[in-house]
Amino acid sequence: MKEQLEDIREILSGAGLKATQQRMVVYQALLKTMNQHPTAERIFEVVRPQNPSISLGTVYKTLDTFVSSGLAGKVASDAGFMRYDVNMEQHSHIYCSNTQEIIDYHDEELDQLIQQYFEKKNIRNLKIKNIHVQINGLKEDPAQEIEISN
Ligand SMILES: [Zn+2]
Repeated sequence: MKEQLEDIREILSGAGLKATQQRMVVYQALLKTMNQHPTAERIFEVVRPQNPSISLGTVYKTLDTFVSSGLAGKVASDAGFMRYDVNMEQHSHIYCSNTQEIIDYHDEELDQLIQQYFEKKNIRNLKIKNIHVQINGLKEDPAQEIEISN
C-alpha cells in the first residue's frame, strides 16, 4: 500500500500535478475501481469512509484535473453518466446496456484494420491519432462474464 502511494505520487508529479492528499486518494480509488470505469459518485463512495471531509464536488474537480492532465479519460455511457477510465493505453470498450458495464477490449488487429481502412478512404485534412471503438451490446446471461477468445 505504501509503495503504491509512492507510485501515485510519481504519476501525479510526472503529469505536472502537486500530489495533494485529495488527488492521491482519488487516483488510488480510480486504480482500485479501474475495471468498473467508475462514475464520480462511485469514486466518492470509495474514498469517503477513509476521507470523511472530502466532498463530491472535490471528487468531480479532481477527476476533471486528471482528465485535463492526461491521467484519465472520460467515457460517456448511454445512461448519460460520465464515467472515468484511468487506463490510458489505446483500447476499445464493450458496453453492456443491460448491466451498465464497460469492459476493456484490446484488439490490435481491429485497430490496424480501421486505421488502414481510413487511410485508404483518404479523408482530407484528418490525421487519425487513435482508434477507440465502442461495441454496444448486452449480456445474454447477465450473471456470467463475457468471454473473449481470439
Ligand atoms: Zn477502458
